[in-house]
Amino acid sequence: MDVTVVGSIALDTVETPSGLNEEGLGGAATFFSLAAANYAPVHLVGVVGEDFPEEHVRLLQSKKIVLDGLERAQGKTFRWTGKYHEDVNNRDTLETQLNVFEQFHPKLPAAACEAPFLFLGNIHPSLQIEVLEQAKPKFVGLDTMNLWINIAQNELREVLKRVDVIIINDSEVRDLTGETNLVKGAKAVKALGPRIVVIKKGEHGCLLYSDEDIFSAPAYPIEEVVDPTGAGDTFAGGFLGHLAGTGKTDAATLRQAVIHGSVVASFTCEKFGPDRLAEIGLADIKARFAEFKKLAEF
Ligand code: AMP
Repeated sequence: MDVTVVGSIALDTVETPSGLNEEGLGGAATFFSLAAANYAPVHLVGVVGEDFPEEHVRLLQSKKIVLDGLERAQGKTFRWTGKYHEDVNNRDTLETQLNVFEQFHPKLPAAACEAPFLFLGNIHPSLQIEVLEQAKPKFVGLDTMNLWINIAQNELREVLKRVDVIIINDSEVRDLTGETNLVKGAKAVKALGPRIVVIKKGEHGCLLYSDEDIFSAPAYPIEEVVDPTGAGDTFAGGFLGHLAGTGKTDAATLRQAVIHGSVVASFTCEKFGPDRLAEIGLADIKARFAEFKKLAEF
C-alpha cells in the first residue's frame, strides 16, 4: 500500500567527530522517503528552493519516490546546521534557516491524499493539521520535536487526538508529559490520543507500547557512527514502510516494523547524510534483520 510523507527537505551542514559534510541532502521527509521506499510506493510532499541541486531530485527519482507533491518555490531551500559532540548521542543545532519553508503550506496531490498510510513529519503542528484536513488515510504516524512541545503544545495536542502512532524520543516524552519513567511516559502520551506509542532511546533501542503489547527492542549495535543525522526519520520510514508494505498493523507486524526501523536507521548512521541509505536495498535490510534477530535471541 502507498505511504505519503510530509516534512522538511533540507540542505544540511553537519560536523561530527568523523568530519564535515557541507550542504548535503537532508531533511526529515528525505530520510523517511529513502527508507520507506524500500518497502512501498512513497509520495513525498514538501518544498525546496530554486537552489536545490538536480542530483538530489534524481536520487529520489531513482528510488521511485513520487515527487508530484514536491513544490519548487522562489527562494532558498531550508537549511540546518548541526555539530555533534565526541559522544555522538549529543548534538547542538548551530543554525536553522527556514527560507522557503517559512511560507510553506502543504498541498497534497490526489494520489498522495488517497495513500492509506500517512506520516506527518516534524513540522509545525498547524501544518500537520492542514495535511490531515486534505488526506484520507487509514493509518497515521506522527513525529514531533521539543520545539513544538514548547511553543505550539495546544496545536500539537489537537494533532495527537487524530493519529494512530507517535514516534517520539525519551526527552520529548519528558517534555510533553513530565514523566521520567518510560512506561509511565508511554501511558501518559497514549492518554493524549495515539493508540500506539513508540519511544526511541537512541543507542539504547526503543519501546513499543499499546493496549495489546509492550515490546522492548534493542538498537542494532554498529561500530562506527559517522553521522546519526536523520536516524530518527529513517527509523520512522522503516517502521511505516514495513506496515505499508505488508498492509497490516497487528501486534506482531508492529514488532517487526520496530526492528525494520532500527535496522534501516543503523545504515543511515554509517555515512554522512543519506549517502549509505542511497546505496542499500531491501536485500541488505533483510540480511541485517536476520543478523539482528540472532543477536537479540535468548
Ligand atoms: P533527526 O536527526 O532525526 O532529528 O533529523 C534531522 C533532520 O531534520 C535534518 O536533516 C534536518 O534538516 C531536519 N530538521 C532539523 N530541524 C528541523 C526543523 N525545525 N523543522 C524541520 N526539519 C528539521
